Formats: sequence, C-alpha cells, structure tokens
Amino acid sequence: MREGTAALIRREDYVAPAYWIRTVDLTFDLDPAKTLVTSKMKVERNAAVPHGPLRLHGEELNLLRVLIDGESVSFRQEGHELIIESAPDADFSLEIRNTCAPEKNTSLSGLYTSGGGFFTQCEAEGFRRITYFLDRPDVMAVYTVTLRADKAKYPVLLSNGNLLETADLDNGRHLAKWHDPFPKPSYLFALVAADLVSREQRIRTRAGKDHLLQVYVRRGDLEKTEHAMNSLVASIVWDEARFGLPLDLERFMVVGVSDFNMGAMENKGLNIFNTSALLASPATATDADFSRIESIVAHEYFHNWTGNRVTCRDWFQLSLKEGLTVFRDQEFSMDMAATPSARAVCRIQDVRQLRAVQFPEDSGAMAHPVRPDSYVEINNFYTPTVYEKGSEVVRMYQTLVGRKGFEAGIKLYFERHDGQAVTCDDFAAAIADANPGSALSTRLEAFKRWYAQSGTPRVQARGSYDAAAQTFTLTLKQHNPATAGQPGKLPQVIPVTMGLLSREGQVLPLQLQGEAAPVGTERVLVLDEAEQTFVFTGVATEPVPSLLRGFSAPVVLDDGLSDAELLVLLKHDADAFNRWEASQRLALNRILQAVRTGEALVLDTDYLEAMRAVLRDPQLDAAFKELALTLPGEGYVAEQLDVVDPQEIHAAVEAAYQQLAAALADDWAAAYEAHQVKAGYEPSPVQSGQRALANLALSMLVLHATRTGDTVWPGRAYQRFKDATNMTERLGALAALVNAHAELAEPALQRFHALFKHEALVVDKWFALQARASEDGGKTFARVKQLLQHPDFTLKNPNRARSLLASLCMFNPAAFHRSDAAGYVLWAEQVLLLDGINPQLAGRVARAMDRWTVLAEPYRSAAREAIARVAAKPELSNDVREIVERALA
Ligand code: ZN
Repeated sequence: MREGTAALIRREDYVAPAYWIRTVDLTFDLDPAKTLVTSKMKVERNAAVPHGPLRLHGEELNLLRVLIDGESVSFRQEGHELIIESAPDADFSLEIRNTCAPEKNTSLSGLYTSGGGFFTQCEAEGFRRITYFLDRPDVMAVYTVTLRADKAKYPVLLSNGNLLETADLDNGRHLAKWHDPFPKPSYLFALVAADLVSREQRIRTRAGKDHLLQVYVRRGDLEKTEHAMNSLVASIVWDEARFGLPLDLERFMVVGVSDFNMGAMENKGLNIFNTSALLASPATATDADFSRIESIVAHEYFHNWTGNRVTCRDWFQLSLKEGLTVFRDQEFSMDMAATPSARAVCRIQDVRQLRAVQFPEDSGAMAHPVRPDSYVEINNFYTPTVYEKGSEVVRMYQTLVGRKGFEAGIKLYFERHDGQAVTCDDFAAAIADANPGSALSTRLEAFKRWYAQSGTPRVQARGSYDAAAQTFTLTLKQHNPATAGQPGKLPQVIPVTMGLLSREGQVLPLQLQGEAAPVGTERVLVLDEAEQTFVFTGVATEPVPSLLRGFSAPVVLDDGLSDAELLVLLKHDADAFNRWEASQRLALNRILQAVRTGEALVLDTDYLEAMRAVLRDPQLDAAFKELALTLPGEGYVAEQLDVVDPQEIHAAVEAAYQQLAAALADDWAAAYEAHQVKAGYEPSPVQSGQRALANLALSMLVLHATRTGDTVWPGRAYQRFKDATNMTERLGALAALVNAHAELAEPALQRFHALFKHEALVVDKWFALQARASEDGGKTFARVKQLLQHPDFTLKNPNRARSLLASLCMFNPAAFHRSDAAGYVLWAEQVLLLDGINPQLAGRVARAMDRWTVLAEPYRSAAREAIARVAAKPELSNDVREIVERALA
C-alpha cells in the first residue's frame, strides 16, 4: 500500500525527462524472500531541457548502493524518489544495487511469486518496484538481463529478446543471459523463472525468416495450449497480410501465470498471460473462452507494433496503443469469422460489451475522455473508455478515410514514428496526412474532440417524406450531456453510415440534393454540427431509414422509429447489425414502458410473433438468432433511465423472459432439437452459434418448466449437464438450472464442483455462475455470502476474487442492490480487505458504485453511506481513494 498523499498528475504538466537511460544491464539473484538486483545503466543528460537533478523512481525497495562511474556518490531518498543532485554533465555510468521481496508482493505489480515461480508485471509503473529507474514510457533503453536462480526449482529462466548464454553455477544454481536489441520503455521489461514446459512451433513468414514460437505453462497444462498457439500463428499471418507488419524477433514467447491482475501483457518478445486468457480445452473452456483467448493472444501480439515499436510518450496517451490495438484485434476476429453473418456477430458482441461497460462509465463518477487530462493512479485508467471507446475512435478514422486510406495512414505512422514514444496527436496527423482532402483531414481538429470530451453523444434523427417532390429530408441533431468535470461540449464529428429501405423492405438508391445520380445504396453522412439536414431526392416511396449501420459511431441514437418501422428493419435491413439493433429496441421499448409506468410487463403479439419469426427463419444463422432473442441486459436498461430502481428493472426483464419462454415454448423445443451439434467439438462460429442457441433454448424451456411445475425439461437439462462432452454445453445446462432456481440446480452444482475441483479456471466459473444467477427473493445474495466462506475462495487470486465479487457487485444488479443495503455492506468490507492485498484489484471492485447517484431511494442513500465509510479509512491505497473520492465529488 502506498503512503503519502495522493497527488493529481496532469497531462498539461508533461516535461521531457532530464536524463536518458540508453542501456541497462540487469542481474537478478532470484530468491523469493530477498532478490538482489544489480542495475548498470548508461545515462545521458537530456540537453533539450534545463539542467536538473537525476530523480529515479523506486517503491518498496531496499537500496544497497549507488555508484556513478564506479565511485560512490551522494544521494537522498524522498518519498518514492532517489535523487542525485550532482550527476555529471557528460555521459556516465550509474550502478545501483537493491533488494526486493517477491513473495511478499501480493499486489502482483513488479516482481512477484505465483505457484512457486517468479513473474513480473511492469505496466504501468511496476518496474520501479524492481529497481530504481526512470520508470516512464518515453525513456527507452536496450536491456541485457542475467538471471540466476536455483536450477531445480526454476529450470526455466526467461527475459525479453534473444538468449545469449546459459550456464550452471555452484550450489545448484544456474544462469541465463538475455539481450533485447530493441530499445524499450521499462514497462515492457519482463522476466520469468519457474518450472514450466513449452509447446513449440517453428514458422517461416512471408519475408522468408524463421521464427521460434513458444507457449510456456505448468506441466499439466500443455494440452490446453494448442488453441493459443494456433491463434498466435493466425495473428502473425494476419498482421503481415492486412497491415504489412511482420514479426521482428527470432523468438516469440508466451507464458501463462495463474495470479495476474489483467488479461495479459505485451512485454517485448515475452508476453505474459493470465491463464484464463491462455488455456483452453473443450472439456474445461467454453466457446466464449476460446474466442476470448484468440482475441487476447492477437491483441498482445499486435502490440508488438502498436505499443512496442511505437510506444506512448506518457500514460495520458494510453489509448494510442490500447484503442488502436483493440481495434486491430477486433478486425482480426472479424476476419477470422470469415462469413458476413459471422462478422456481424463479432460486431454485435463488441458493441454489446461497449454499451454494457463503457456507456455507464461515460455517464458515471469516473467519466473521462479517451485521452484523460489527469489521474491520481494510472492503473485506474485501464478502462473501457481508453480501450473500447478508443477502439471505436480508431474505427471512425477508418470509416472516414476508407479501408485503403486507413492502411496508408498506418504505413505513414510507422514510417514517421518507428522506435519513438509518441502521442495521440501524432497518430491523428499520420492518418490525416496520408489522406489529404478526406472527410477526416478537412475536419481533423473537430474530430480530435473524441479524445478530449468525455460522455456519450446523443444523436436524434427525424425524417420527413414529401411524396409530391419525392424527397426525404433527414435532420440529424447531436448533443453531448454534461459529464463529471465537463459541463459544456462542442459538436463532435460523427460518421453515420446509412441506407434507406422501402416499407416492403427493398433497398433504395441514395441521391443527395445536388448530385447528378444516385451514389450506391449505402453511404456515410458526416454529422459535424449541432444540427444538419440531408435531403435525398428521387425517393419513390416513403422510406424507413437505417442509420448508424454497423454502429458507425459510439453514440446513443434516437431515430424515433415506430414499432412497424423497426419490424421492417428487423426483417429486411441489409445491415445485420441494424437488424439485431431493431430486435433490441423492440424489447427495450417494452421493458422501459413497464418500468416507467410501474405496470406489469405484458409482451404483445406483434413482438412475440416477430421473435417467433426470427427463431423460425431458415435464412438466419443460429448465432444471430441467439443474439436477437437475448433481451437487453439489466445494466443497459438502467442506462436509459434517469432514476434507476434495479429491482423494478429486474422484475420487468424477468417477466419478459418468462413470457418469451412461455409464448414460444414449442419453438424453443424445436430450436433446441434442431441445434444439437453432432460433429466433434470445434470452437468455430457455426458450431458455437448452434450451441449458443441451444443453450438459450434450454434455459427458456427450464425457466418455463419451473414456473409450470413440469419436470421434463429440468430433467433433460440435468441429463445434458451430466453427459456433456464440452464445457459450453455443460455450463449452459448448469446455468439453465441455476438461473431458474430449479431443484436439480443443487445436485448439479455439487457434481460440477466434485468433477472440476482441481481445475482452478473451472472453479472460477462455478463461483461466477452462482454469483451471477438471476436473483430470486435474495437467494442469490445469500449464496454469495456463503461462498465467501468456501474453502476454495480467496481474495489473493484475482480470478477467484473477481469470480465472486465482480460477478455480484458489477454484473448482478438485482442481487447487489438490496433495500436492506446488505450488498453495499459486503462491498465496503470486501473492498477494504482487498485493498490490503491488491490495490489494483480493489480499485476495480470499488467501481461497482460508480453510478450510485442515479439510484432510486432507498438504494441511493445507503450506497452513499457505504462509499463514505470506505473513504473515511485513513490507510487507503491511491487506487481505491481516487475511486471513492470521485464517487463522492
Ligand atoms: Zn493492450
């Protein structure tokens, strides 16, 4: 835990470092209790800034000595800095010796132990917990690393780059020496010393170069690495084909570790992964896990160019690498999906995620721009805004300059900046300069408001048809509501991809007033003022506008379409995303109507028959059907309301599910039978779509059965749970029983635990499933309280802690927000416990209260009290303090 008062760090205060570190030679004598670190650096004064002392960062270190050019030198330590006033003007060598205590490091930042091995996590500021350094991303050095450790306990010794030598030492120790030729910031440093085994593959890339790929895991996990290896190979091939970016290292290593704060980390040549983002077998991982692993493996690999070869000047620029790299991994997943329909499924899933996690962030206490202006703790800014909204911003560049134009922009970006630490402005300039005269370049400064303004813009669209003149006038207005710290906003540049349909569903040609002839049937309107009007001519019949196709901008669209018009889009739109969107809007309208009026929800025949038609449509893929028939999440419903009563929302959504289950019972049964996968397991889009729909159908059938007292479907679900040969079907059947609170849920849960008690990642699923179970009169909350006492539960392992706490507090609003405030009491107590162990993780869980101000009473007052209770603790980490103080601001 950090001492001292939390200082606000501001983007506008950036100054270049007073010194550069050009090379660093690190030697580690690894010991869990006390590891000795020797660091020999070549340091150069930065002539471009005024002369000043050398200030090195260091935290939780024990300093042994400091030498400049081999001589001891006077220094002082102030807070987390080591200050040398008398550093020479000329280049000099600096040697520092210190120790650190890996086994006591429960924060999992810096050098720590896990499962008897050593691992590191240095982003963002973990390197300073290993040794004193200029721990900032604009200081880039060439690293040579020598690792010394007990050979029996730590047979594998890894660091970045190429292996120079290995040797046996006295006392059963051995050494390995690594050299990374690419200058890098300290946050990309990594080491691993552990008892691991590896899957290896040699590949030859287009350029004719040979490379060795390795995936290192614990002994028993080797057979779970095939999917990750395949994903890595596919990523390498894709980045070369799509962006001309090749693998630049002879050896590329990936390592799994079970104690890890995030998904994974892109250390140069030595990516370190949370095992949850790496290991998969059909028996233990779901289809969703397989696809998440594919995208995270790709994400970290793509960072090698977007992040490592070109890195961030300072942490305010984080989205420069994260937004761009998420965009790249999303594009990769879409390209892997191959068919247009499977691509649309990818896009729908990404947008659903954005709306579920980023939209609430953008309207809550922690709202911040894609490029934040200030922070207390940078770890609090690895957020959906920086990542997912950042990716949407990159996608808008591509929409505005076209795919070819975007590729040219990326090319120019690397021509200009390879080997540099740069800013989001540099990226914007490269894309714009490569596309002079484009819709982007002509409004670049306005476009860059996407980096500066927080909040989700609202776009209102209204059309009017003039039958006599055969014109359709579309008026678009935008408004970005005030957000935390940002009362007023300027108009943003919003690309609106659109088309027009006749009421019968035919596509209509698009000709804007002043154009000589129609220009296709889909185009991008650019909204860059508060209000703009577009007049389409030659429109033979009153059209239905299909706007924001493919979710062309991260905004909330109010298109004012009637149910009848939404039904036209659901049936006929050429854009699969908007067909799905229509399904969600139809459901949302009905749920909101019930919540707003307080009347019981009744699903009408029009809606039910439309859903039946989707379910029966032989032209639609199973994956699409599953998405269209899944109702909007309770969190997304809450986002539409000014005052949120989580219990009322839950009641309405539950009622909608029950009615959908009852009205379509025969169709659900038919869909269930028709989507049984008979072939051997493959995590392909086709098979996973079938399993997803079968799982949804089964959950509907079990839900309906438990309400009517029928025992057939619960029995069939239990049978499927027992006989399943893959985790997707097994967990789907278990979830059907648990969410319906069927009697068979209990024996199934027990059996599941007995079966998988030695598979940590599956035990995580077991906890999460119970904590996310649909709330029913407090049963789910009571179960979570019990599970906190379960012998398998621990706050020390982030995956396990999240499986229970994040699942309850962030993903199960109805179980968490209780009128007796017991959910908030649990939150406060667990956040404080967690803060003493792992502040980063505590900061994440603390965010469950971000949106407390919109809660209805009695939730609102009780939530405030719980937050104030946490904020009153004197010993909080910066991480938690920043979150709770912003919540109360
Ligand atoms: Zn990343």
